[in-house]
Amino acid sequence: MSENSEGLLERYAQVAGAEVIEQMRALAERLRGARIVHVNSTAYGGGVAEILHSMVPLMRALGLEVSWEVIQGPPEFFEVTKSFHNALQGRRISLTEEQLRLYEEINRREAERLEEKLREAEFVVVHDPQPAYLIKYVSRRKGYWIWRCHIDLSRPFYPVWRFLEKVVINYHASIFSMPEFSQPLPHPQYIIPPSIDPFSEKNRELTPEEIFEVYRELGLDASRPMVVQISRFDPFKDPLGVIRAAELARKFVPFQLVLAGGGAADDPEGERVYQEVVQAARGKPDVYVFKLPPTAHRTINALQRAADIVLQKSLREGFGLTVTEAMWKGKPVIGGATGGIRLQVVNHHTGFLVNTPEGAALRIRYLLFYEEKRQEMGHKAREFVRQNFLITRHVRDYLALMLSICM
Ligand code: UDP
Repeated sequence: MSENSEGLLERYAQVAGAEVIEQMRALAERLRGARIVHVNSTAYGGGVAEILHSMVPLMRALGLEVSWEVIQGPPEFFEVTKSFHNALQGRRISLTEEQLRLYEEINRREAERLEEKLREAEFVVVHDPQPAYLIKYVSRRKGYWIWRCHIDLSRPFYPVWRFLEKVVINYHASIFSMPEFSQPLPHPQYIIPPSIDPFSEKNRELTPEEIFEVYRELGLDASRPMVVQISRFDPFKDPLGVIRAAELARKFVPFQLVLAGGGAADDPEGERVYQEVVQAARGKPDVYVFKLPPTAHRTINALQRAADIVLQKSLREGFGLTVTEAMWKGKPVIGGATGGIRLQVVNHHTGFLVNTPEGAALRIRYLLFYEEKRQEMGHKAREFVRQNFLITRHVRDYLALMLSICM
């Protein structure tokens, strides 16, 4: 192991504790020589890319041979996969035969492009539905194939799930973020919640100057309270509900509301939803809507740190990384009582779970009023993340899974 790798692991040990690092090392030792390939559909934007940017170097630091492949496709392909995503999270949709053929065709083409790598790897981890059909087109597979589902599959629109299930059953195992998301499948299913990297640009400590710089750049007022939601512009993130909640709460307490986010390469809905949000915010004082570039990690970090309260009022959510990011920064989070957020926010202890804009408004009002409560919840939130949702625990769980399926 190189000195650099040692240094990296040592840094993580200081934040996450020595024990988890020892466990990671012991597991990696037994997997030495194994080639691991992660496959997803975007290199930036969204939680999966965020995790892989941190996970791949950390796995490499443990001496593993890890690569990350991103499937490519035309915009129409991502239209279809975004519909899949929405349907798997419960929305009724209709897809034509032609669209399904396009989805399969892109998977076939990408399987051909990546064939040698995927065939030779000891472990292939395929993230989410976009590349799920690769398995159908890679013959003579040598290794174990794992389907990692990051979305809330608890109440899928069945016609779409049936289509996907046809290939998911061919994987050796699948991973879900919560037990509720799993589906009847003929192979072992593992529950592994996602995580954040405390040293990424998104989460590292910032100086007060760095935070102030972002206030200045965005034209925000550092002397007044601020409530923030960071999200892709996506109806499931309920940005309109957030604006409504702010309107209700503002009758009692003044604050700046910031809705900031960008798109992801595999999400074609972003622009339309962004326009809707801009429209809804028009004429409302103190509502700031920012479209961010994919590289805006430090801006997001600073906004989360500058916030008094962070919202993630999602209507469906596999696991909201933004929730964990904010909690790591010591912020109370008001989150939608849905999916993974119910696991991330300990209601009344690290924040509040809400079902409606009215509920969110009530909690905003309460937390802005009681500074002490904000601090207490924020403190508990950070510790909860340290113990459960750091990247080190995540890597350890993946390695343990890999060992367990080949035993
Ligand atoms: N994110 C980002 N830029 C944006 C919006 C989000 O970098 O404009 C990041 C955000 O900080 C988080 C991830 O993308 O790390 C979003 O993950 P989450 O699980 O919250 O939602 P997803 O987009 O995967 O549904």
